[in-house]
Amino acid sequence: MQNKNKSEYDAIVVGSGASGGWACKRLAEAGLKVALLEAGKPQSDANFSEHKPGFELKYRNRATEMMRKTRPVQSVFEVCNEYTADWFVNDLEEPYTTPKDQPFLWMGRVRMTGGRTNVWGRVSLRFSDWDLKAASHDGFGEDWPVSYKDLEPYYDLVEKYVGVTGMAEGLEHLPDGQFQPAMPLTCQEILVRNRVKEKFGRTVTLARSANMTRPQNGRGPCHYCGPCERGCVTHSYFNSAFTTVPDAIRTGNCTLISNAMAHKVLMDEKTNRAKGVLYVDRNTRETKEIHARVVILCAQTQESTRILLNSGTAAYPNGLANSSGVLGHYLMAHVRSGGANGDVPAFGEKPSMGGPVKPVGIYVARFRNLKGDAPAKNFLRGFGYEGGSNVDFNWSAPGFGEAYKKALREPRVDFDMTGFGEVLPRWENRVEIDPEVKDIFGIPVLKIYMKDSENERAMIKDMGDSAGEMLEAAGAKNIRVYAHPSAPRWALHEAGTARMGVDPKKSVLNQFQQTHDVKNLFVMDASGFASNPCQNPTLTIMTLCVRSCDYLMGEMKRGEI
Ligand SMILES: Cc1cc2nc3c(=O)[nH]c(=O)nc-3n(C[C@H](O)[C@H](O)[C@H](O)COP(=O)(O)OP(=O)(O)OC[C@H]3O[C@@H](n4cnc5c(N)ncnc54)[C@H](O)[C@@H]3O)c2cc1C
Ligand code: SF4
Repeated sequence: MQNKNKSEYDAIVVGSGASGGWACKRLAEAGLKVALLEAGKPQSDANFSEHKPGFELKYRNRATEMMRKTRPVQSVFEVCNEYTADWFVNDLEEPYTTPKDQPFLWMGRVRMTGGRTNVWGRVSLRFSDWDLKAASHDGFGEDWPVSYKDLEPYYDLVEKYVGVTGMAEGLEHLPDGQFQPAMPLTCQEILVRNRVKEKFGRTVTLARSANMTRPQNGRGPCHYCGPCERGCVTHSYFNSAFTTVPDAIRTGNCTLISNAMAHKVLMDEKTNRAKGVLYVDRNTRETKEIHARVVILCAQTQESTRILLNSGTAAYPNGLANSSGVLGHYLMAHVRSGGANGDVPAFGEKPSMGGPVKPVGIYVARFRNLKGDAPAKNFLRGFGYEGGSNVDFNWSAPGFGEAYKKALREPRVDFDMTGFGEVLPRWENRVEIDPEVKDIFGIPVLKIYMKDSENERAMIKDMGDSAGEMLEAAGAKNIRVYAHPSAPRWALHEAGTARMGVDPKKSVLNQFQQTHDVKNLFVMDASGFASNPCQNPTLTIMTLCVRSCDYLMGEMKRGEI
């Protein structure tokens, strides 16, 4: 392909996580010269500690106060701990702001090759037309400019490479995929699956998950050691750092530039084309420019939009590619503060320390507001649950001596269900640049506005009540139902802020995640989501990204870009 920019690279990809890794792999394997700008450090197997016991750590993994000193937000979620803390952003050096009455926990800000896929929960679920065309079903928001048929072949491609363990269930609203053999359910999970199907007709299945049960591409099957969020030397879960990114580099066409914090997209204002990216070297604090024919932002929803908002020009004073005025708006993040847990029978299982740990639990497929159901009385859309059983020692056993030791070994089996609910796309939930605050690199930071509406509040209540009734039907004892307000939002599944659409007046991106305003500028992470279905987003992020890369290469061949 002819390089119109006469620069060294055909494409610059910003961010090496779920989306950026795929963009590099797809483009580099097709022969394009790609520069991968990653704000974080290089990742390697030497950093992985999934087999290291806590007592070998300096602070025994118990120094939570230490974590809080530099990572008060990141350490709220337990995957940021003594093993992994330095993979995460230092919250004091790279802050964001919120209005006082709208706290927002922007967690999972990983600064390593692989981004959030280093520590993600790996649940990998397809969207259906029930999600993509939700606005046509219930009248709220906008339909996606793609349908399930457009995505299906790309879901197949991505799942086959990623390696997803799962069970086919034949549900229209949660389409089956290209699964590796399913990890077995526990006895308790089978009990809950059967009882919930009998009593309510709802589907409790294995949480479809990016953990392999068969070897492929030099990666081994999972050996059930447990803490995937600390890395995996056998590369058995999906992490861009040891899959897509090395594949891209192996072609000889992709150059990884680590510690490169993108500040803004550089524009050629005469031609209305992006010409490159301005970035700051994290180590030297030097500012550098890099040029290419195409710029692709994959820095994670808020981060990519921050780059666009910081890239304003005379033609785009309110942020690059923002002629619609929509950039920054319609931020979404799942609610997950409703659910229940209870005690279920042990079925002869014994607790153990250091025994095998299944890294995948159950998923309860959405059952509200679907075809043929009466609409839920007081909210739109729906939710699913993640959860599973856990056999543990009876740590609160009474007594002492022999009697205590015996009581301690009596198994306690807890079954947990946590709801993951769709948040409606609303104009007022948004990000903007805070004119008062910069990070340590001198880059203006985001101010995030996010609060619940009645819809989320009603949904969370139903999440709690429904989890309670399902556990009751399964015969669980001591059921504890919870339904808390969701703010501060549990923000690991963010989407929106540069949404896709057919109408350039109401959206930032087209269906191929190309900005309507600047032809050679793309945003291939979840920024483009037009809604936030309750299924976890990453499988769809990767699927859309590969599809958009194929479109981009077609346009380049035709000389359109
Ligand atoms: C604890 C946890 C559990 C999760 N569980 C699940 C799950 O079970 N299922 C699911 O579907 N999703 C899950 N997610 C969400 C999932 O990880 C994300 O949806 C996904 O990784 C997003 O992909 P991305 O490419 O947009 O961003 P990321 O994977 O976060 O990658 C973005 C990369 O861009 C880099 N970057 C950011 N800003 C800049 C800049 N200015 N310049 C250069 N580089 C930059 C970052 O350092 C990072 O490496 C989870 C997330 C977390 C944190
Ligand atoms: S549980 Fe499986 S996927 Fe997770 S770290 Fe261990 S071997 Fe790897």
